[in-house]
Amino acid sequence: MTQKLANYIGGHPHAPRNGKYLDNFEPATGKVYSLIPDSGAEDIELAVQAAKTIFPWWSARTAGQRSEVLYSIANKIEQYASELAYAESKDQGKPLALARELEIPRAIHNFRFFASEILHQTEQAVHADASETLNYTHRSPLGVAGLISPWNLPLYLLTWKIAPAIAAGNTVVCKPSELTPMTAYMLGEILNEAGVPHGVVNIVFGRGATAGAALTANPEVPILSFTGGTATGRSVLTSAVPKFKKTSLELGGKNAAVVFADADVAEAAIQLVRSGFQNQGEICLCNSRIFVEEKVYPEFVEKFSRYASLLRVGNPEDKETNMGPLVSKEHKEKVQSYIELAKKEGGKIAFGGDTPTLSDYFSGGYFLNPTVVTDLPHTARCMQEEIFGPVVCIAPFKTEKEAIEFTNSTEYGLSASLWTRDVSRAHRVAQALQVGTVWVNCWMVRDLRVPFGGMKASGLGREGGRHSLEFYTETKNICVKL
Ligand code: NAP
Repeated sequence: MTQKLANYIGGHPHAPRNGKYLDNFEPATGKVYSLIPDSGAEDIELAVQAAKTIFPWWSARTAGQRSEVLYSIANKIEQYASELAYAESKDQGKPLALARELEIPRAIHNFRFFASEILHQTEQAVHADASETLNYTHRSPLGVAGLISPWNLPLYLLTWKIAPAIAAGNTVVCKPSELTPMTAYMLGEILNEAGVPHGVVNIVFGRGATAGAALTANPEVPILSFTGGTATGRSVLTSAVPKFKKTSLELGGKNAAVVFADADVAEAAIQLVRSGFQNQGEICLCNSRIFVEEKVYPEFVEKFSRYASLLRVGNPEDKETNMGPLVSKEHKEKVQSYIELAKKEGGKIAFGGDTPTLSDYFSGGYFLNPTVVTDLPHTARCMQEEIFGPVVCIAPFKTEKEAIEFTNSTEYGLSASLWTRDVSRAHRVAQALQVGTVWVNCWMVRDLRVPFGGMKASGLGREGGRHSLEFYTETKNICVKL
């Protein structure tokens, strides 16, 4: 029988009030394997009330008490790591090995990191006017936080929001993506086993346009953290502005890599194949444009295409698999439409562009081969718009100035990577790029203490370490006459 998921509200499973469910497809086979609540505003309201009821008690716990709860969640996730990895791979399509090695460990780390970080928060004190007054800051949580997450790294990105929000003393209502509900569903049971007080975390499943929109519009939710596409982010912000909700937006990207002729070209090609196709290219930080200095352009294209051709596409459970299926039929069709567009725009397909031949069992799955496109101008739509799939466009540049201009030419500004042995150039170019993160001779090395976020249409605000704890609290200045 097909499994029926439930919302997690006040520590208990809840069927959606309207009794409606949505099909949840397994991307590797295209078959429905579970049903998820098609929740509406009334379910969101129930969750908000559960979160609101416990907020005064939870926010009055000491940092040490909240920290212990976060450590306990991390330990429980660790206990169920294998089951979670399996669920994440089946739900989203990522190779099981990637879920095991990257995503689930990072979800655990999110809780351990903020369990520790909350213990090291300090406030500020300033003596003013020849010590006649003392100003000091007082930080407090805001109440019920609305957390909306996407499908590409379902558990990692959801816990990236839950951990700092509850560490800081807020209670939360989460709306995961309707495409990948399974690990969020399992998280509810894990939170109960970890002893998280009922109502501190609530999870409501459903479509963005209904459940998501009801959460962003709820007047009793003063703070919103959203990760997803830029168009959705715009609509979340539009809904938040009239009520002046504190809002953090982590949005889309069109990240470029710049390879200078003095780089280790073979190493750059290996790492950029990883950064282009990991998780089927469905990571917001993936490099989907690569600009290569003219002198080494042919060598780089040859190496990159050859390494991409070695990637194995297929059964996500197979240890040898590098790329699983894309997340949905609609998403696969969108990515394929960009491959067709690339050809119309004058691009050449150096590798891929087609679907792999797999066994009958996977014939309904949403698989695509890694695709390498060359010779498009930096202004082409495929070079400007987020494709969010296994398509990488490579083009040559002549000068450092041109590389900067090409990289900065999109509306996005999430991240970039630079490949060079010239230290001065690395700093100079990194500072000129309009992006939130620049990696030099590496990619996606993440330290949770550093600020994370995008420039331009890639987001609003910074999260990470103390930045997250500042976002999930409000700072007051208290001035005392001495
Ligand atoms: P999406 O379509 O924007 O959806 C993100 C979340 O918002 C989902 O939970 C979605 O629910 C919900 N949603 C949709 N419409 C809504 C509305 N009107 N009001 C409130 N919530 C709404 O994004 P996605 O396709 O899931 O994820 C891919 C995008 O996320 C890419 O653009 C990627 O670059 C971006 N991303 C950015 C980062 C970052 O850190 N900057 C990280 C990861 C992903 P449903 O799915 O149920 O509709």
